[in-house]
Amino acid sequence: MGGRKSKLIYVRKAPEEKKTVVIVGGNAGSIAAKILCDDFNVILIDQKEYYEIVPGNVECMLEPDKFEKFYSIPHKTLHPKATVKIGKAQFIAAENNSSSNIIRINNSEDIQYDFLIIAIGQPYPFWKAGDDFGKEDNHNYKTIEGRKKIYVKRREEIEKANHILIAGGGAVGVEACGEILDQFPNKQITMVSAEKVILPGEVDKVQKGVLKVFNKFKNFKFIKNEKVEIISEADDNSNKKQYQLSNSKTILGDSDSILHIRCYPGTFEGKTFMPEKYCDANGRIVTDTYSQVIGLEGTCFSIGDATNGKGRGRDNMGAFSQIASKEAINVCDNIYRILNNEPIQQLPPQKLINLQTIGSFNLVGTIYKPDGRPRTSFTGGFLSKKVIKKKIAFHQKQNEMKMNITKENTHL
Ligand SMILES: Cc1cc2nc3c(=O)[nH]c(=O)nc-3n(C[C@H](O)[C@H](O)[C@H](O)COP(=O)(O)OP(=O)(O)OC[C@H]3O[C@@H](n4cnc5c(N)ncnc54)[C@H](O)[C@@H]3O)c2cc1C
Repeated sequence: MGGRKSKLIYVRKAPEEKKTVVIVGGNAGSIAAKILCDDFNVILIDQKEYYEIVPGNVECMLEPDKFEKFYSIPHKTLHPKATVKIGKAQFIAAENNSSSNIIRINNSEDIQYDFLIIAIGQPYPFWKAGDDFGKEDNHNYKTIEGRKKIYVKRREEIEKANHILIAGGGAVGVEACGEILDQFPNKQITMVSAEKVILPGEVDKVQKGVLKVFNKFKNFKFIKNEKVEIISEADDNSNKKQYQLSNSKTILGDSDSILHIRCYPGTFEGKTFMPEKYCDANGRIVTDTYSQVIGLEGTCFSIGDATNGKGRGRDNMGAFSQIASKEAINVCDNIYRILNNEPIQQLPPQKLINLQTIGSFNLVGTIYKPDGRPRTSFTGGFLSKKVIKKKIAFHQKQNEMKMNITKENTHL
């Protein structure tokens, strides 16, 4: 096995026999599919027909037209050289017969693989008050058209609501709050967080910068150290919903209030994909530092948000698409290495640029060194309307790059 090097050297000699690589997932998985498609039979499985730029989720809730234009590409357009299969995948092989590597789609079709890359992400749901957590409506939007309709519905709900409750003060909650306040500065917004600060884990300056932006809105309120636990109809038979907090305080909202909720540990959907013995207590797939699934080394890799993060270059690296992309590149390279009898290698620690847009007018962020220490951070509402254009231009550029990835050119 290779040791940790500061720079990766790619070994991408085409193997003599065309092996089958099954990739389950969309974001990191798409990069892997692009790199491998010339030298392998690549089968990409996703429950959605399209590749989605997940960071655009919140923006699309406020501006649904952007989804089709900037934040989604049909997998079949993105992957003309791969076999694309749309459906819910299930890992079954090691349970029954460890000598056959099988992925089952929609409980009906079995696919045999030589290598498997699991990149199933994690759910980033946006719930309306009273919705059932398990409802299809929240996560599995199969078609671009269907997904857009949900965004249109969410926009209408936001327009109608007087009081919006945001559960979660992490990156997604902050982004949602910023986008809503930009467009509806008079709405009452209550953000509830289980942590004592907004953006836990970020540097102090950035946390304060976010609060400074939000506190300019007189109807914004932050409740710390609380979780939203129960959502129910109010006792008084009015049309209001009741949100129960963990310390038993309640907040009442009108019937149109939106609850945005970030997944708490234990709600991770990946749990349903792999048998428990391959997962940690939160359902995340356990890998080694080479992104190999422990117990299935040599054939099965897992990357991106679905994993316990050991393959991400350093410990405690959060969920970032920029890191998931690098893991994808490294895993592909390791598949070539295995077939060429070369030692596999670890992803070296990566620099992280953590930008947090707060709607369209404000930006805060930190650039982290590869060892995880902050190099520089910045706050301020200095970018005005230009942020909107830059954000879209950035995503368009990413899409173009994704379209053009080849095994020789994988720099993201
Ligand atoms: C609002 C927001 C802003 C963000 N901003 C940033 C940012 O600025 N920078 C950054 O680096 N990261 C950001 N992120 C995080 C980033 O989006 C994730 O880290 C990234 O999408 C993870 O990629 P992934 O490939 O692991 O999973 P995903 O992108 O979630 O892809 C998983 C895919 O797997 C599919 N899938 C799941 N289960 C199955 C199954 N059983 N069968 C078939 N298919 C399945 C899903 O349909 C999906 O297409 C942001 C996230 C959000 C929500």
